[in-house]
Amino acid sequence: MSREVLVIGAGLAGLNCAKILKEKGFQVKILEASSRAGGRMATDFVDGFTLDHGFQVINPAYPELISNHLVEKLDLIPLPKGIEMQIDNRLILMGDPFKSLFYLPGDLSKSSGRFMEKLRFIQFLSREAPEVDLGTALEAAGGFYQKVIRNFLMGVFLCDPDLVSTRMAKELLYWFVKGNPGLPRAGAQALPAALTQGLDIEFNTRVLKLLDSGVATDDGVRKADFVVVAIDEVIAKELLGKPMVEMNSSTTWYHAVPQGVISTKHLRLDVGQEVVNSIAISNVVADYAPSGQTLVSTTTLKDQTEKEIRSELARLWELPESKFEYIKHYQIKNSLPKHLPGKPLLSPVKVSERVFAAGDYLAVPSQQGALLSGRLAAEALSAKS
Ligand SMILES: Cc1cc2nc3c(=O)[nH]c(=O)nc-3n(C[C@H](O)[C@H](O)[C@H](O)COP(=O)(O)OP(=O)(O)OC[C@H]3O[C@@H](n4cnc5c(N)ncnc54)[C@H](O)[C@@H]3O)c2cc1C
Repeated sequence: MSREVLVIGAGLAGLNCAKILKEKGFQVKILEASSRAGGRMATDFVDGFTLDHGFQVINPAYPELISNHLVEKLDLIPLPKGIEMQIDNRLILMGDPFKSLFYLPGDLSKSSGRFMEKLRFIQFLSREAPEVDLGTALEAAGGFYQKVIRNFLMGVFLCDPDLVSTRMAKELLYWFVKGNPGLPRAGAQALPAALTQGLDIEFNTRVLKLLDSGVATDDGVRKADFVVVAIDEVIAKELLGKPMVEMNSSTTWYHAVPQGVISTKHLRLDVGQEVVNSIAISNVVADYAPSGQTLVSTTTLKDQTEKEIRSELARLWELPESKFEYIKHYQIKNSLPKHLPGKPLLSPVKVSERVFAAGDYLAVPSQQGALLSGRLAAEALSAKS
């Protein structure tokens, strides 16, 4: 029986798919356009700083991480399960009161929303999600949704949360409630790195076209019995000849401040401002910055200049602009697939008898969704062979 498979793309979806197919006895090669594995989960090391391509946390409650025994390999440092918000010129600390009673005053504060609005949000979490946009589903949670939840979720969906599918949003909220997300000591890339062991990956090879007997790359033809297209939605649609789609884009800025001037480990949000969130990331994982400095990671959705960002940071962190030293920024054009109402939580992975698809756009846009889609593609393919 012929069992040669080419997996296009070494992101989480492609890596998980290749790993499972290999375990099932297939001969698998991954073709990756770039020079490293991990796709959107990448980390650079610059002058002693650990710079992830985007503020990206890993939730140890994700079932695909648990079933792959990945959690124990990641050396995850948990983030505090709360946030700080600038509301009406006051800094309010809110979070899971079961983790710390210090969150209670902020959770109960009127500034973060009325009691009934908070109750309606809890009711929303406990009921089945309607197939509408999140803005409509959470209308009853009024000011609490508008000020707190919406601002937090903007950093999760990397777009206006009002527009996204409520079913998808609830799925991700469920994981946030269940797990305690963290960061690997070695940067976000530790997750794909843990998956690559023993896999055959050909780097710097871009697939240009699918053929009947394999694929055409920028370095010649590669033959195989099956192909798994495990790339982001925009390029996948190009390769599969489907209509073009749009993905959300975001930018993450890195600045250094002298160690000690920011002491909190909490993510800080600003109601109604351009900065989506900002965190002194090396206060959570000390290895992210060299001694004497603190690394600040800041996410925005709009194009802004470094000067504009610095001025927002100064206001958000209540520090002089001169304290922030620019390190680097990453503009990620195709950050996350848009998951709008009506889109199912899982889309089909079979394209034809010999072509399968994987990628976060076929599931809930997240590491869990990417890994799961890779598993589903591997299982569908092996059932066919
Ligand atoms: C800023 C940001 C923050 C995020 N935060 C979180 C978070 O906190 N929690 C969470 O769960 N998820 C988060 N995510 C989402 C998560 O990172 C992605 O859902 C996941 O990494 C997507 O994996 P993938 O394999 O589907 O796609 P990708 O990672 O995009 O992998 C596709 C791979 O295919 C390669 N490729 C593309 N075209 C070709 C070609 N023609 N030939 C060969 N190779 C090709 C690419 O180089 C890439 O390596 C975040 C994403 C971003 C961008």
